[in-house]
Amino acid sequence: MLIRKIAAAVFAVLALGGVQAVTAAPATAAPRILYYDASQAQEFKSVVDQGAQIWNSRVTNVRLQPVTAGRTPNIRVYADNGWPRAYTSSLGNGSWYMGRQAVNQGYYQPRIAAHEFGHLLGLPDRRTGLCTDLMSGSSAPVSCTNPNPNTREASTVNANFASAAAVPARTFVWSGAQQ
Ligand SMILES: [Zn+2]
Repeated sequence: MLIRKIAAAVFAVLALGGVQAVTAAPATAAPRILYYDASQAQEFKSVVDQGAQIWNSRVTNVRLQPVTAGRTPNIRVYADNGWPRAYTSSLGNGSWYMGRQAVNQGYYQPRIAAHEFGHLLGLPDRRTGLCTDLMSGSSAPVSCTNPNPNTREASTVNANFASAAAVPARTFVWSGAQQ
């Protein structure tokens, strides 16, 4: 036990002396700001903003803000005729598409937007079929109009950003058939 404590102390000293200090985020830490660019989201710009606001109202450790001039966005949002989908490069970074294939099938647009942002916030698909789960995505009925993460999903996102969780690069597609 003592050796473990000494090792931890040595590691902490080394970390502080290193280029990147690894420290636990205090509870009062400022949220990580992620800038998103919806300028290429075509007719879905406002629903992209809505998806961001949904997350901002439910998590504390990260905030999604529209990118300001001259700044490189963390997240780029596009629109096309395919399935909604997300491409993550690391936690909080990547891009997603508002896909008209799901919109035209009647899936609720704010739910799609919040779901795809959810991938950028480190959540995988969980095809539970439940409308109460945001990350159930297309497995919930088309009639599902719940755009909100449940408490487990929100707390997972808070934990991801509290610990700067490592998230591998991945592609997530709205339609289960294409996974
Ligand atoms: Zn998904």
